[in-house]
Amino acid sequence: MSDIRNTFGYATSRKQEGIFQYTRQDEGEGVSFDPDKLALIPEKDRRWAWTEVDLNAIRHNVAAVRREVGSGRRLLAVVKADAYGHGAVKVAKTALNTGADYLAVATVNEGIQLREGLVNAPILILAEPPASSIPLLLAYKIMPSVYTAEFAIQYAEAADSYGLRAPFHLAVNTGMNRIGVRYDEVLTFMRQVGFHRALDLQGVFTHFATADCPENMDFIRQCHRFQEAVDSLRAAGIDPGLVHCANSAASIRYPDTRFDMVRMGIVMYGYHPCPETRKIDLRPAMSVHARITDVRPLPMSEGVGYGLHYRSRGSVKTFTIPVGYADGYMRCLSGKTDVLYNGKRLRQVGNICMDQAMVEVDMRTIGLREKLDPQVGDEVVVMGRQGDQQITATELARIAGTIEYEVCIGFAHRMPRIYV
Ligand SMILES: *Cc1c(COP(=O)(O)O)cnc(C)c1O
Repeated sequence: MSDIRNTFGYATSRKQEGIFQYTRQDEGEGVSFDPDKLALIPEKDRRWAWTEVDLNAIRHNVAAVRREVGSGRRLLAVVKADAYGHGAVKVAKTALNTGADYLAVATVNEGIQLREGLVNAPILILAEPPASSIPLLLAYKIMPSVYTAEFAIQYAEAADSYGLRAPFHLAVNTGMNRIGVRYDEVLTFMRQVGFHRALDLQGVFTHFATADCPENMDFIRQCHRFQEAVDSLRAAGIDPGLVHCANSAASIRYPDTRFDMVRMGIVMYGYHPCPETRKIDLRPAMSVHARITDVRPLPMSEGVGYGLHYRSRGSVKTFTIPVGYADGYMRCLSGKTDVLYNGKRLRQVGNICMDQAMVEVDMRTIGLREKLDPQVGDEVVVMGRQGDQQITATELARIAGTIEYEVCIGFAHRMPRIYV
């Protein structure tokens, strides 16, 4: 058993320097803490704020997409950005066990994290990583998206030198103008790099800029360009491998875009990218919870938080929760959002701080309204369901002027995650 004082460098000589003064008396210098016991203190008891991810909701959503798109094509689970803040390894395994076949990430390290979490499915990086990362791609069997000849050749040569193949998906730019070989240049591109024996075209894909938008002219143009690119390869005798282009919105809304595989992102986490996807039933997987750390009556005209922008109108209490903008509780939500307590909506008041936020409780007795009596330690829901009330990422995103994706990812920054 190691001495935790040594682990943290609490050398007794420091005492004289006046840095650490934990020891009350000289005999106390022999105190040591058992790191195994310390490790047993649960995350939820170290700080009263946490996120919960309901893996059954992920299962429900994957199954709903699978039912909608049918069994004749592959289902790729997009687990980039730590699975939109839900935890990449757990979500990937859950999705694969529920009918997903393929995974996509944004970075090499995200791919490595999945492999180290013992995930075996094919992994595609949705962009072309730096050529200097090629040994990692080969070692961990992570497929890059490719759209420059320099990368393609370096990748092929590196693979060849190890006696390996160099599988990749060709990214096609059909109008989003983010990454990819232009739709009318894919054949030239493939002829330029295709001589290399190690290169192994596993798929061809594009990404839509407006699949979730009401107007669909640009969307249709992208579809045509993508079809043109795929046709040009086939006509030249090049097998495009898995043809895919549909993100969540397109895969539910436009069956013609499903091709060999669909890429499900936001729907897997329980959110609708647009009203047209509401024909499938989704359940949000993430919720955000906290316990009350402080309760106080707030006399009339007293203010709360930085700037004291909120002032008590009398007959109120306020309580504090340890969730702030460093946890993804965005400061721009200040005074505009609610939390759930006892199944009731209560208004968040005052500026949201970096690590804490305050909430108002109206103590007036009006009619039959239940009188609330918040206590330190009581649970509050910042996002999610309590009783018959619900605060969704959609609601928070609307107030903050952003999208559910950013809300969920924000809440993953610092709070511990509990799977339920
Ligand atoms: C992020 C991403 C997706 C997933 O998008 P959703 O809207 O979450 O379904 C699909 N394809 C690509 C290329 C992406 O970058």
